[in-house]
Amino acid sequence: MDVISNPLTIFSQLDYLRREGKRIGIVPTMGALHEGHLSLVRHAKQACDISVATIFVNPSQFGPNEDYQRYPRTLESDLQALDSVGCDFVFTPTMEAIYPSGYSTYVEPPRVAERWEGAYRPGHFRGVATIVLKLFMLVPAQVAYFGRKDYQQVAVISAMVRDLGVPIRIEACETIRDPDGLAMSSRNRYLSESERVRALSLSHALHRAQMMLDAGHRSPSELEQGMRDVLLSAPVDSIDYAVVVDPETLDPIESIQRDAVALIAARVGTTRLIDNRTLVRRT
Ligand code: AMP
Repeated sequence: MDVISNPLTIFSQLDYLRREGKRIGIVPTMGALHEGHLSLVRHAKQACDISVATIFVNPSQFGPNEDYQRYPRTLESDLQALDSVGCDFVFTPTMEAIYPSGYSTYVEPPRVAERWEGAYRPGHFRGVATIVLKLFMLVPAQVAYFGRKDYQQVAVISAMVRDLGVPIRIEACETIRDPDGLAMSSRNRYLSESERVRALSLSHALHRAQMMLDAGHRSPSELEQGMRDVLLSAPVDSIDYAVVVDPETLDPIESIQRDAVALIAARVGTTRLIDNRTLVRRT
């Protein structure tokens, strides 16, 4: 496994391999890796000749009162984990390489970025779109792997790539969960034992939404109330949103006529967690 910090070096090595006909898959991450991240690398390895993980804690996607400073940085164990799954390249750019002094260019994110995370984390998707586009230019990959765990992020990046004509395919991969259902997240390590128990209510609430749909409830607001009931009985400390929306536009819907997606953001202690589930209309 090659670990490379220099943008010119990673670009020229991968550009050479691409010209030789190799298919390159990129997995952008902020490190503090867990099985969710590693599953993306496995997907890349399966479908591509060369897998590239990137590790960069991107300051521009954190709000001023968010956890940029305390975000876990575990480079040594991240590199071991990537090596153990057979990742070929790791790109670990420096801050100066990504945001040279005087940096002032940002991507204006697409419309699908406006609601939910976009509303509760102003500027977040501007930072995400900017770093992802920059990584796509430095790592000449044909395919990029993202987790559905960050459902709106996948929608934002897919729209950006479509709108700007970026020559890369976006693959969305399933959310990896702990055996009890908690969606894996780098932020789970902030949770105390008792907070972790309360955090399970997110996946339970999503399960409740599917149960209600299966039982014939077609009204998003009924399902949303059902999810809130589960979250508040845990209890979580606050709910940013718990909604059932159109799976593509993420706009609210009046009634569930086809598949929909349930999105939740809630705080447990000081930790903000997100999770989602595609709601399948079976009847
Ligand atoms: P992050 O390091 O949190 O920026 O995440 C990097 C990538 O890993 C993103 O595409 C995430 O959606 C994805 N990811 C994070 N958690 C999971 C998970 N539990 N299952 C699958 N993918 C995940």
